[in-house]
Amino acid sequence: CNQQLIERLNQQHKLSHAQWEQLIATYQPADAAYAQNLAHRLTVARFGRKIFFRGIIEYTNYCKNDCRYCGIRHSNPHLKRYRLSEAQILACCAAGYENGFRTFVIQGGEDPYFTDQRLVPLLRHIRQQYPDCAITLSLGERSYQSYQRLFAAGADRYLLRHETACQALYEKWHPARQTFANRRRCLWQLKAIGYQVGCGMMVGAPFQTVASLADDMVFITKLQPQMLGLGPFIPHSQTPFRHFAAGNTQLTTFILSLCRILKPDVLLPATTALGTVESNGRQQGVLAGCNVVMPNLSPLAVRKQYLLYDNKAGVNENAASGIQNLTDQMAQIHYTVLKGRGDFQPDSALR
Ligand code: SAM
Repeated sequence: CNQQLIERLNQQHKLSHAQWEQLIATYQPADAAYAQNLAHRLTVARFGRKIFFRGIIEYTNYCKNDCRYCGIRHSNPHLKRYRLSEAQILACCAAGYENGFRTFVIQGGEDPYFTDQRLVPLLRHIRQQYPDCAITLSLGERSYQSYQRLFAAGADRYLLRHETACQALYEKWHPARQTFANRRRCLWQLKAIGYQVGCGMMVGAPFQTVASLADDMVFITKLQPQMLGLGPFIPHSQTPFRHFAAGNTQLTTFILSLCRILKPDVLLPATTALGTVESNGRQQGVLAGCNVVMPNLSPLAVRKQYLLYDNKAGVNENAASGIQNLTDQMAQIHYTVLKGRGDFQPDSALR
């Protein structure tokens, strides 16, 4: 019966809320294997045994927000705050470019220092210097005007996980000033402006339920993002959620497979969090339908300060060895690496 639901998803690219709930609540290992095989076949048919590499630059760990799950939350006094200078960010891009990267992902906390006046010249600079590269931003919630200015300055894509599509859960995870409505407003605005947009969520996070995961799947179906970022929740010892268990790989890879079947054309990273809960987590992600990996280009000196959760993979390796390790991991499962822009190509057959 669950395999019929998975087939229905494959045919119709949607399920009802009740069907999502049933699938997630009652799936058995055989259903997960069925979804994984199908998702992997769909991915290979569309992208080949190839993985897009994106270089991620963690440009600031200052954050005005106070997400209860996140290690760089404003109220964590135990970390040394840093922001990279424009020259340092450009040096990360230069090193990434030399290594063949053609997508830079600039991610950070919500740092009020980075006004549009500071970001626009930086983006123009990157755009001018690397006209053949895509620029992905992951800077959190900003105004419509700001998103427009950053787009006009050269940004192409924006990653903003919706975190959860269940309002009650969102309110358990965030203080009242961070609203559910604003997070979603941002996503719709980013889409309207013309960014390639990524939403996503953590799997196995505190208080998450099957119904809330079904809310996520329905929301993803509605938003039709070009990218989807999802990985397991992992506790951070200096956050209010420190005593909760991490999300497990089985449920995360099952949801990843369902996302691939839902949206065969989506750009779906095997996340660092997945590679943190299990050393071969990113390989498992790729075999479950992922087609993107994001090696870290941040300077080694700041990596230990960008800990969203404990034991984050890759904090002790420099960019070159991180890239090599991920390349080797992909080779072990017979995948080769593509570092080109790798833009979203919509599957017109699905629309
Ligand atoms: N500030 C930007 C934003 O809000 O989108 C980007 C940076 S934010 C730290 C990136 C993502 O990290 C969040 O969307 C969240 O899903 C994830 N994250 C934060 N804490 C985490 C944790 N403890 N376990 C797993 N993922 C986490």
